[in-house]
Amino acid sequence: MIQNPIPYGRQHITKEDIVAVTEALQSDYLTQGPRIAKFEKTFAEYIGCKYAVAVSNGTAALHLCTMALNVKSGEKVITTPITFVASANCVRYCGGEVVFADINPKTYLLDINSVKKLLESSPKGTYKGIIPVDFAGRAVNLEEFRKLADEYGLWIIEDACHAPGGYFVDSKKQKQFCGNGNYADLAIFSFHPVKHIACGEGGMITTNNEALYKKLMLFRTHGITKGDSAYPYKNSIEFANGGYKEETEYPGWYMEMQQLGYNYRLTDFQAALGTSQLKRVDEGLVRRREIARIYNEAFSGKPYILGQSGNIEGHAYHLYILEVADRLNLYRYLRKNNVFAQIHYIPSHLMPYYRQFGWKEGDMPYAENYYKHCISLPMFPTLTEEEQAHVIKTIENYYSK
Ligand SMILES: *Cc1c(COP(=O)(O)O)cnc(C)c1O
Repeated sequence: MIQNPIPYGRQHITKEDIVAVTEALQSDYLTQGPRIAKFEKTFAEYIGCKYAVAVSNGTAALHLCTMALNVKSGEKVITTPITFVASANCVRYCGGEVVFADINPKTYLLDINSVKKLLESSPKGTYKGIIPVDFAGRAVNLEEFRKLADEYGLWIIEDACHAPGGYFVDSKKQKQFCGNGNYADLAIFSFHPVKHIACGEGGMITTNNEALYKKLMLFRTHGITKGDSAYPYKNSIEFANGGYKEETEYPGWYMEMQQLGYNYRLTDFQAALGTSQLKRVDEGLVRRREIARIYNEAFSGKPYILGQSGNIEGHAYHLYILEVADRLNLYRYLRKNNVFAQIHYIPSHLMPYYRQFGWKEGDMPYAENYYKHCISLPMFPTLTEEEQAHVIKTIENYYSK
């Protein structure tokens, strides 16, 4: 049986997931109940960081990060053009200026040398932060980025939406898992259905920085605190006039709005789904790597392949990408044959919104060349062997015509 059509990515919902959500729906809490804290705790354990803050989606996670880092009007932040536009937009939400730097044509990730060039060509203090993206599931070497960031006094937000479970190997031969907070100040994840863990909508921020964690907790819910955080990290937020107070000193209804925040909360039944999905995330990763291995074998050395995701240690394979000649016609041929491949991404700097700031063709040669040739093949844990064989055969047929 072959799905009609075969999508590039899709969620996997089991009976166990449905039971978990149903239980949550029948409980006393639909939002901000015990399942949020449980999801945060299990996610933090999985990622290997101290703190995790669940939010309504990955874009909200990015916005809370730029708020917590106090991005102000006109401040410059560097990111890659080959990502979902949300990676850049979070800077604009705070009035900051997005400065794109080109990708490395081999890894498709933000190129540290192009970032270095930007930093070296301006007075120190010009740039405030960097947002590298673990694009397609390939982990950015954040040890290198941290060194550079420290030299220039920059913060780092790691956009790890594509890479839960992904890692790079640092200079001490240690695996550094995406979002573990050892190098980036903050990291974010998305639980949109095409990502590794599905909550419907959902997101998470991870960090090892307690001060940032406290800010995120406030900003997530209107900037309001009741002082008695129901979260595993007790007394994490203080009242404005100092210290956490016993109930005897404050009436039960007392709360303070200390900052201008938003309602970026996740619901309890989404958290139930997330926790249930998290149990299978490593299984999914094994399957993704197996699918990647088969694509690697099928396409490496073929004359029509200009580049491919490849066999990379620590790659989490949210996407499996080929760079090919004659991409548009291959895309059309695949669709005719039931394979709904996708293109990730149109470079952000060429979006009409970003062109108004002066960005244009030719600014990011490697990103633009990558975009001319890239195509993302079906990649999700429930893709069957038969379906993958059909994808490979269809591509081979196209190029043997
Ligand atoms: C999906 C995604 C986001 C945004 O996440 P949402 O949950 O859809 O808001 C941000 N960055 C990257 C790289 C993504 O893939």
